[in-house]
Amino acid sequence: MALATNLGFPRIGAGRELKQALEAYWDGKIPADELLRRAAELRRRHWELQRQAGLDVVPAGDFSLYDHVLDTACMVGAVPARYGWTPQGSGDPATARRATTGAEGGLGADGSAGSGDAPAAAPPGVPLDVYFAMARGTPGQGVPALEMTKWFDTNYHYIVPELEPGQTFHLASRKVVEEFREARALGFEARPVLLGPVSFLLLAKIRGATASAAADGSRPGSASRSAGSSGSVGQGSAPAPSAAGVAQGVSSDPRLALLDGLLPVYGQVLRELQAAGATWVQLDEPFLVLDLDEPARDAFRRTYAELAQAAPGLKLFLATYFEGLRDNLELALSLPVQALHLDLARDPGQLEQVLAAGVPPTLHLSLGVVDGRNVWRTDLEAALERLERAREVLGPERIFVAPSCSLLHVPIDLELETEFDPEIKGWLAFAKQKLEEVAVLTRALNEGRQAVADALAASRAAVAARRSSPRRTRPEVQERVARLQPDDARRPSKAPERRARQRERLGLPLLPTTTIGSFPQTPEVRRLRARWRRGEIDDATYEEGIRAEIRRVIRLQEELGLDVLVHGEPERNDMVEYFAEQLEGFAFTRHGWVQSYGSRCVKPPILYGDVARPGPITVKWITYAQSLTERPVKGMLTGPVTILQWSFVRDDQPREVTCRQIALAIRDEVQDLEAAGIRVIQIDEPAFREAMPLRRADRAAYLAWATECFRLVTGGLRDETQVHTHMCYSEFNDILDAIAALDADVILIEASRSGMELLDAFGEHRYPSDVGPGVYDIHSPRVPSVDEIKHLLRKAASVLDPGQLWVNPDCGLKTRRYEEVEPALRHMVQAARELRQEW
Ligand code: GLN
Ligand code: ZN
Repeated sequence: MALATNLGFPRIGAGRELKQALEAYWDGKIPADELLRRAAELRRRHWELQRQAGLDVVPAGDFSLYDHVLDTACMVGAVPARYGWTPQGSGDPATARRATTGAEGGLGADGSAGSGDAPAAAPPGVPLDVYFAMARGTPGQGVPALEMTKWFDTNYHYIVPELEPGQTFHLASRKVVEEFREARALGFEARPVLLGPVSFLLLAKIRGATASAAADGSRPGSASRSAGSSGSVGQGSAPAPSAAGVAQGVSSDPRLALLDGLLPVYGQVLRELQAAGATWVQLDEPFLVLDLDEPARDAFRRTYAELAQAAPGLKLFLATYFEGLRDNLELALSLPVQALHLDLARDPGQLEQVLAAGVPPTLHLSLGVVDGRNVWRTDLEAALERLERAREVLGPERIFVAPSCSLLHVPIDLELETEFDPEIKGWLAFAKQKLEEVAVLTRALNEGRQAVADALAASRAAVAARRSSPRRTRPEVQERVARLQPDDARRPSKAPERRARQRERLGLPLLPTTTIGSFPQTPEVRRLRARWRRGEIDDATYEEGIRAEIRRVIRLQEELGLDVLVHGEPERNDMVEYFAEQLEGFAFTRHGWVQSYGSRCVKPPILYGDVARPGPITVKWITYAQSLTERPVKGMLTGPVTILQWSFVRDDQPREVTCRQIALAIRDEVQDLEAAGIRVIQIDEPAFREAMPLRRADRAAYLAWATECFRLVTGGLRDETQVHTHMCYSEFNDILDAIAALDADVILIEASRSGMELLDAFGEHRYPSDVGPGVYDIHSPRVPSVDEIKHLLRKAASVLDPGQLWVNPDCGLKTRRYEEVEPALRHMVQAARELRQEW
């Protein structure tokens, strides 16, 4: 019999219960045992939901109070010394009594502490306060948090484990064993989930390694938060939704030298899971879908040879996802595991490749036919054809049916969307509905199609309805995309000519000063928007409120002496949602929350149809701001790649086509701004880098269309209109050609945390246009001094021509308070003035 299974379930709760519990605990409103009780209740509820959806086996250990990579670091005792926890402390009863994340703190299934049958000598686990200090830092001038960065090509951020050269490991948290026991005690057939050892090491960084050395390895993302930043990120400030750099391919790597010390700990966990009654253990190795060199492949071989020995009789389930295995297919098939999971949503073709390569007679295949990364209802018949094809070769016994990856990346339950457009709702499936699809498919495989004839008919009808719906298509939009010419993505003159005209028109000094766009979102501004949304105030009152805020921000900037002003973005809650709401082709959920990191969630728009702009979006606010001042005010727009990347995107046409449609809508906005007399327009593309494909071979094609889309936005502008762009991460080395090809007149980037080091690449590249390297980190409340800023600018001027430089913060000021922003900007302007005198 084929089994209906799942790789992982969202942890946050349909009502974001985990968020509430965590924030109450951090605020001191509930004690640790209440947090742990609520967490256990969520696990129980989610297992029950999965069983009711029809799963034969549920995952256990996939739950996390903050992040599963952090959990893994705790499991193997990789707690940096600055958090003041040592395993030797384990004998200390005071430590042992503290609530922990693993060995004893979690509640057992019967509501008692779960350590009842653990060996008496079990260490107490990593205390909760240490765990959260690693995740978020400690308050005030305390210990900074670990770095955080994007999980592969998703918008989920994981905590980057920090290892020492020569790091040793020991079993320090038995969370996975406890949660497996908990599931069993509640009567669930469960499969424990672990992050595999090779992927764990490749997600980590070695302390002291330079940023570029770490990036040359294979961390899939660039840091959203440096190890040096304040610990307050988890609370107030939004993630600089940074940017994943994407894996560079794994080269011979000092992290893999730590494998020998790590594997015995994994071996011990496997034995304990086996002793607790596990028959299968899932090991997630997403790095198997990336570009690997020989040492990395060898690390996989060594790892699985050793783990297979460590717990003979235990069955290892190796999970790969987010891409196809491609050239790692042979490697994956050669590992001594009993099951291999394939992401057939991302790479449906790999099933035939695997079958052709010859599946070893002892290997099960787990077929990820239901897309775990997107919200569309599965075409069940198409999925079933794939499953039936696999059954022909393997027989039903060796098949698991599953979503393509953990469901962490989709909202929990579509049924909660009671006010959603009913037609479009019929095209969707969230986590719960996806598991029901898995169950139907499994039943069809085991009992034949007629056993689920109704479900198949409903799926067929939904697929047909979506395909033929007029809601999906706008012929005029498609024709416009089809008619595009290369010249549409080209400005009339080359950058140097434009530069001369713009400088003359704008009358800017050396080292022009500006900001990235948003000013602090005060409680008053947030309240104004919320009341208007709820219909408590009318449009006129709302608009006057926004205008008053714009007046304040313009006056402040004039008083501070900034050169290029912004309107401050008080009308925007979110840089993608704001635009999506005013474009055709998007729908919005009420409860469709997806975890971004820790207690932070996002509610991505759902892009279901051809994109069109019914009318101007920002023009009235920008022109109002411009009417208040002689200085140039920037039009402020979100770019097409970022709107695409931070939405759930339709799967019925290539992403690049959808992106071109968005680009044309934003192009129209840009044209309107120029026609209204706006002289500078900024197109933010903070997701440009994270949208990069995971495999090197796919990147050139992506960069080509992404660059083209950006240029479609700006291509119709006159030479004298200055285009700014902003990207808030600091790994540009490998994409500088594409960045230059954007042909923006000015790029404003995050740079302060790298101490301007990233500019070396711009210097070497002889980057042709203006650059505004951020001179201070907006993630911290700290106010930089004039001297500090001058120092950074001097460094910048040693690499780039001073005439190329702009002066600005790292990112928008939305999450900061005026008490910090005013003095910081004052110092920034002062630093620019002093250097103008000197240079
Ligand atoms: N213009 C936006 C702001 O200042 C940019 C935000 C971002 O880069 N994430 O808030
Ligand atoms: Zn930014």
